[in-house]
Amino acid sequence: MLLGAIADDFTGATDLCSMLVRGGMRTVQLIGVPLPGQMASDADAVVVALKSRTAPVRQAIDESLSALKWLQAAGARQYFFKYCSTFDSTDQGNIGPVADALIAALGCGFALACPAFPTNARTVYQGHLFVGGNLLNESGMENHPLTPMTDANLVRVLSRQTEGTVGLVPFVTVDQGAHAIRDAMTQLKERGRRYAIVDAITDTHLISIGEAAESHALITGGSGVAMGLPGNYRKAGLLSETIDPGALPKLEGACAVVAGSCSRATLAQLGYVRAHLPVFELDALGTPDPAALSDAALTWASGKIGDKPVVIAASAPPEKVAALQSRLGREQAGVLVEDAVARIAEGLVARGVRKIVVAGGETSGAVVGRLGVHSLRIGAEIDPGVPWTLAEGSGPSLMLALKSGNFGATDFFLKAFRALEG
Ligand code: ADP
Repeated sequence: MLLGAIADDFTGATDLCSMLVRGGMRTVQLIGVPLPGQMASDADAVVVALKSRTAPVRQAIDESLSALKWLQAAGARQYFFKYCSTFDSTDQGNIGPVADALIAALGCGFALACPAFPTNARTVYQGHLFVGGNLLNESGMENHPLTPMTDANLVRVLSRQTEGTVGLVPFVTVDQGAHAIRDAMTQLKERGRRYAIVDAITDTHLISIGEAAESHALITGGSGVAMGLPGNYRKAGLLSETIDPGALPKLEGACAVVAGSCSRATLAQLGYVRAHLPVFELDALGTPDPAALSDAALTWASGKIGDKPVVIAASAPPEKVAALQSRLGREQAGVLVEDAVARIAEGLVARGVRKIVVAGGETSGAVVGRLGVHSLRIGAEIDPGVPWTLAEGSGPSLMLALKSGNFGATDFFLKAFRALEG
């Protein structure tokens, strides 16, 4: 294993995995802290997906250190702490405290911090994080329910979260390339800084930063700053050119879509697929009971599984979602539907379905949990940010495509199954 990564949430982990596969690395995502004997064979990179972004600080640290220990025992050469490209955190944590703990455990004394991801319009200039043309604190992130970001100056933000001190590698240095960045980071470390926020506006900057961090034990940032790492391993002769990193074995079995996302993109995708595939809509308002909803959907699906992919959706437009929420409360409504969709996925697998597209981030977490999935081997992307994965766990092997709500083109569901035929 070349790279061992710890991600502070599930979809963020998949995002990093996709970046590494694109760079030519065979990558496996593990769900939660792996068990001591758990294997991830044939992987150049392993990304442990935690749910530590908004967990209590002590829990986030403990889980991250447990993940690090497992990655160390598995023989990783370099470590990566992945957080959100909008630096989602509070003055209490969890980015600073977790990074502090990882630096202490690795004994490296220093790490760069770079959330920039220009492809998604996240850039860092003079230590200030921009989302598109807006400073982070004017991007809408200042209103985030859990991690409101009210300061765009990451040197200040990280300083409030760490016992160490934070320096800056500014744009003028980054723009000169890897040598200049390496020298600047060395100087900051020698002057006792624990962190360097590193500016980045383009992918070229990210690749230079990756190159400059070649000998760093720990890198912290968004998935963007991982862009340069495969090149380092290749240059060192550690990564083969010839393999197809996203190659997955073919699985026999029926196909299905389960959707719990109510995002605009998912609603459009469901609208499109109605003309092509059988679709069953859950009536969560009429039957607010997960077991009954699941029974109804599985009875409908029973005669249809195997011919064409079947589509089962809880997804609803805002007024319907609001109606259920006002009856049950926001959280209860979410949990009820997630539970129903997860049961349906389990029932579909029991009836021979092996290839499932899941729409929705939280929904994906619920489905993966219910199916007892421990690891996802990352395959080729269907659309940006959504790869097919080979899921292994306590049940049969499955192909899963876990789609964050707003991802994917309108014909995503058809495209996903077409990609498996080739
Ligand atoms: P996205 O990735 O689009 O945000 P998520 O799965 O993360 O999708 O979140 C969607 C949430 O909406 C889930 O908690 C899901 O259970 C809930 N939900 C889905 N359908 C309905 C509905 N008809 N009424 C109320 N809540 C719903």
